[in-house]
Amino acid sequence: MVKVIAIANQKGGVGKTTTTVNLAACLAQKGRKVLLIDSDPQGNSTSGLGFDKRDIKKCIYDTLIDDVPMKELIIHSSYDNLDVLPATIQLAGAEIELVSLMNREGRLKSSLERVKHDYDYVLIDCPPSLGLLTINALTAASSVLIPIQCEFYALEGVSQLMNTIKLVQRNLNPALKLEGVVMTMYDARTNLSADVVDEVKKYFETKMYNTIIPRNVRLSEAPSHGQPVIVYDPKSKGAMVYQELAREVIGDE
Ligand code: ADP
Ligand code: MG
Repeated sequence: MVKVIAIANQKGGVGKTTTTVNLAACLAQKGRKVLLIDSDPQGNSTSGLGFDKRDIKKCIYDTLIDDVPMKELIIHSSYDNLDVLPATIQLAGAEIELVSLMNREGRLKSSLERVKHDYDYVLIDCPPSLGLLTINALTAASSVLIPIQCEFYALEGVSQLMNTIKLVQRNLNPALKLEGVVMTMYDARTNLSADVVDEVKKYFETKMYNTIIPRNVRLSEAPSHGQPVIVYDPKSKGAMVYQELAREVIGDE
């Protein structure tokens, strides 16, 4: 059975894209067939896998707004088992254009329906908002994975996110589950990081992954080389922890 996982948090810069790209690459390396859907107009997942956005003529926008079959828009990455539905800045207009369309919350789900069975995992990188693009991702998903940055205001906004998830469960997608919460950018030199992990653990209890993603310079360098960290520097701490996270995600298969 395919798992469709939305990687969501309306805060920017918490590690959504880093987690999407690297988890996708690690799952693919372990032989799972993976589709990464870039649903952020910034297209950072798209460029993080080595695609030059200037070369991409059609993207997720065309299926969301113009009903182009998703299959025609999916591109193979240079990595085995890893396909991408890219995003370009064109997607920025979709948030507004979706409003007046039929089935505006369920358009990604409908268009994914025909291709999702080609994959073991579909990972959706969400934009930093709770607008219609994120709602489409949550409606299409079987579960949601929430990256939370180890910082002072870590839980700020989380109750709003959880409310949105509840609303989607009630009205659009009753089967939506919480996949898990992953702590990112952990700094072992500070007490703050440890305190934040304790606080978030109290809130999410067993839903927090054992794997904690540290701050790692290789993780921040890899996107500018258009590579997941397991390719850019396979021996780095960043590569090790995302492989560990992939094992935890697969553990629930
Ligand atoms: P989001 O998609 O939630 O906006 P990103 O994944 O783009 O967040 O991360 C924000 C910035 O932080 C990026 O520049 C990214 O390279 C960097 N970053 C993310 N995770 C880490 C990490 N564990 N260690 C170091 N830098 C990180
Ligand atoms: Mg992002």
